[in-house]
Amino acid sequence: MGACDISFTIGKKATKTEILDNFKKVQARDHEYNGHQEGYSGDFQTVDGVECHLDKLFTSHREAMDYCLSVAEKWSSVIAVYYVQLDLTKSKTQVNLEKRIDKLQKQLNNLAIFTTKNKYTKCSQCGSKFSIAHMRYKQCPLCGNSLKTATELKRSSRIAETIDKLKARVDILSKEAREKAMKKNGEKNVKTLVAGWGAC
Ligand SMILES: [Zn+2]
Repeated sequence: MGACDISFTIGKKATKTEILDNFKKVQARDHEYNGHQEGYSGDFQTVDGVECHLDKLFTSHREAMDYCLSVAEKWSSVIAVYYVQLDLTKSKTQVNLEKRIDKLQKQLNNLAIFTTKNKYTKCSQCGSKFSIAHMRYKQCPLCGNSLKTATELKRSSRIAETIDKLKARVDILSKEAREKAMKKNGEKNVKTLVAGWGAC
């Protein structure tokens, strides 16, 4: 028996009773279209009920869907949540920070691969010697030890630290943008998503 994602939306902030009514209607519709098919029809007939998680408000259909599919148990209950579709335009600062992160990430990746003209490298941990011609990554295939030089290791960790700091700033900025957009939107255009895993 497999699992397939099933969902429907209600175009407003539905109450628990309305959600349950809609759920039953969709089950009846699925029964009419698909018949029973021995219980694996991959539709709403194969789940028992709806769990309402209505204390949350998601900022996009995608975000709401990801949440429902991650918490719903297979072939059990589907989850109902509220969401709004917000326009989250990134600020110039955030775009620039993300560009810097990309650039640093590329530098970091380049530090992890061999580009030297040296023919051989030796692992300081297990003592094995390798021909660089057949290797791409600076990592010992025998013991997993890094084959970077001390300078390269230092540079790598410095870059990684900078990336972490920039990422933390991006996190704050996107959280602020989200909160601002939520505040501006208020309770307008709230919709209900019902989603989970059916048996197929
Ligand atoms: Zn080694």
